[in-house]
Amino acid sequence: MIVVMRAGAAPEEVRKVADQLEGMGLRLHISQGVERTVIGVIGGRVEEATAAAIEALEEVERVVPILEPYKLASRRYKEGGSRFDLGGGVEIGGEKVLVIAGPCAVESLEQMQQTARAVKAAGARLLRGGAFKPRTSPYSFQGMEREGLEILAQVRRETGLLITTEVMDPYNLEMVAEYADVVQIGTRNMQNFHLLREVGRIKKPVLLKRGMCATLEEWLMAAEYIMSGGNQQVILCERGIRTFDTYTRNTLDLTAVPSLKQLTHLPVVVDPSHGTGKWKLVGPMSRAAVAAGADGLLIEVHPHPEQAVSDGPQSLTPERFAGLMRELTAVASAVGRGI
Ligand code: PEP
Ligand code: MN
Repeated sequence: MIVVMRAGAAPEEVRKVADQLEGMGLRLHISQGVERTVIGVIGGRVEEATAAAIEALEEVERVVPILEPYKLASRRYKEGGSRFDLGGGVEIGGEKVLVIAGPCAVESLEQMQQTARAVKAAGARLLRGGAFKPRTSPYSFQGMEREGLEILAQVRRETGLLITTEVMDPYNLEMVAEYADVVQIGTRNMQNFHLLREVGRIKKPVLLKRGMCATLEEWLMAAEYIMSGGNQQVILCERGIRTFDTYTRNTLDLTAVPSLKQLTHLPVVVDPSHGTGKWKLVGPMSRAAVAAGADGLLIEVHPHPEQAVSDGPQSLTPERFAGLMRELTAVASAVGRGI
């Protein structure tokens, strides 16, 4: 349940109610809104009579039960959508649709510089590129690791673009978080609970990709792991799920966008590149994602897709990406947003 304090309740009043709840052995998360403080009960069972007694307190406006197993991620926990600053005034969850673009993997400094300049000129505000690559085959390119992170840092300095890159294990988290503005958790790690707990402790926003076989509830529970650890800056990224169809690499579940908007306050990003596996489908699905209410897009762009070490077939050329950005501006404005 959540306890909504009276508007303007003083910190001592909030503390008094929190002490009372903690005295019952409950675990709390307190969030201070502009007008009201909300106390979330995130651990322990609350009897109906207890909830009624708390609601009767003078300092309390109301008590709202949260029936979903995820609490902090629930829409009920926070009115309106979450919006947060990723750094340098770049925001997610606001009026603007945030476009993240770049190659699947960091391959060289020149490749990243070329891509970064092009996607920045076209309107992207975050640069992506994997330095640690989760590959199905142990014989495939595994990423440039620290050298790749160094390249990202240099390109960040040169262009001012923020960086998102994947962390694959708790072991490398500190290093990745030092370089990344947004730390990405890939589909294969969505239920790596140790990793989720660890990213719950960092101060950087986390882009949490949907597990390829995960339900929305399992995905939101993964977000809850991070949030209950203390990190509220979680961005959900729909990247396609496994279905019986093999024509596309995955089945991009765009129903997830409006569904998540009902279930959670967290921002939602769509990745049509991994979602389809085919660059020709990236444009139509990007347009559809923005129309469906996505807060952002993650799009793979490579200066020479035919030479890419990974995911070339789903990567746009910089020219195609620039064309798509022009189309997206029109779609975004039709749904009351900007790019
Ligand atoms: C990626 O974005 O580079 C990636 C590996 O994606 P996913 O985890 O969705 O497969
Ligand atoms: Mn990829």
